[in-house]
Amino acid sequence: MPVITTIETILIQLPTRREHKWTGLTEPIGRYVLVKMTDDAGRVGWGEAPALKDWGGEFGRYFGESPLITRTVIERYLAPAVLGVELGDAATLHARMDAVIKGYPYAKGAVDFAFYDLTGRWLGVPVHLLLGGRSRTRIPVTHSIGLIPIPQAVEEVAQVAAEGIRTIKIKVGVDPKRDVEMVRQIRAAVGPEVDLCVDANEGYRTPGEAIRTIRQMEEQRLIYAEQPVMGIERLAEVARAIDTPVMADESAWNAHDVVQIIEHRAAQIVSIYTTKPGGLLRAMEVAAVCRAAGIICNVNGSVETGIGNLANIQLAAAAPAVTLSCVVPVSTPAAQQRGQVGGIYYRDDLIAAPMTLEDGAILVPTGPGMGIEADLKKIETYRVSE
Ligand SMILES: [Mg+2]
Repeated sequence: MPVITTIETILIQLPTRREHKWTGLTEPIGRYVLVKMTDDAGRVGWGEAPALKDWGGEFGRYFGESPLITRTVIERYLAPAVLGVELGDAATLHARMDAVIKGYPYAKGAVDFAFYDLTGRWLGVPVHLLLGGRSRTRIPVTHSIGLIPIPQAVEEVAQVAAEGIRTIKIKVGVDPKRDVEMVRQIRAAVGPEVDLCVDANEGYRTPGEAIRTIRQMEEQRLIYAEQPVMGIERLAEVARAIDTPVMADESAWNAHDVVQIIEHRAAQIVSIYTTKPGGLLRAMEVAAVCRAAGIICNVNGSVETGIGNLANIQLAAAAPAVTLSCVVPVSTPAAQQRGQVGGIYYRDDLIAAPMTLEDGAILVPTGPGMGIEADLKKIETYRVSE
């Protein structure tokens, strides 16, 4: 049985198409940690930690990870603990990581992705088959509108809708008046057919403020309101008062969080990440708990590069609970970009071929491992020292 023989970390910074911000974010996106894992036959698997120091859980329950913290945790603790683990044995991989250091799910997630990529390449199968099979072959994409001025947002959504994207997520949670007006103008720009959702990133100060604001936005037909306030109990208060389904994101990191959400009836929808629970093995556990409770899910993330985004796509393909459109980039290297905007957050990417977007959905790649090769030249181009 092949085993893990080396683990290396690489810090990269991808150039962004435009500034992308949300409530609470103070750092540029795209400065992330890659994990390069090799086995004793010289095969290589890739992972990524899209670590952000200011994206955490409610009331200090989970912490942000900066790229340098993630890198230290991987090099100092995780890598030595998992060397020698047999490919395919994800249970042992996670048991060893959890035994050597508590927490740090982003660091553990990056090691988990590289492990699944490597295992899939060894067996010659795509990662979604390792996760249980193919629930979907195409992943509809939600385009995310960050905290930008309303006229710029209106221009962008018109183009995105023309490109075939059917769901638009609007970052709100700054100022109720501005937020309601933003949603109204975006609805006017895209017409009645496109689905709209809002994400406040815990930005409303009280459940009352969230309830009053979302009730006004509901006139524009929202498919969900994501994390309007901080805290599972407060989320439940909002969920009881509005017609629009509430989605938990910051409140829902792992399977245990989802159990609490179910107990409080705090949300009808959960946003699953590959990173919040600490990798694909754990994300499938989150999805299983959601499914058992009748909670529906999307896959959402932190604007990963193509390497991390392939893990999103493999999860979305495998997990039966993931039935909603996903907030994932359409990872596309510079040479294949043709001026499109939908799902494009970076000017270049780290994968050797673009993801295929058809009728607003990414076609799940069926190649071995994560399905698309990493571009080693690009990784060198965007490598940074600190
Ligand atoms: Mg969110």
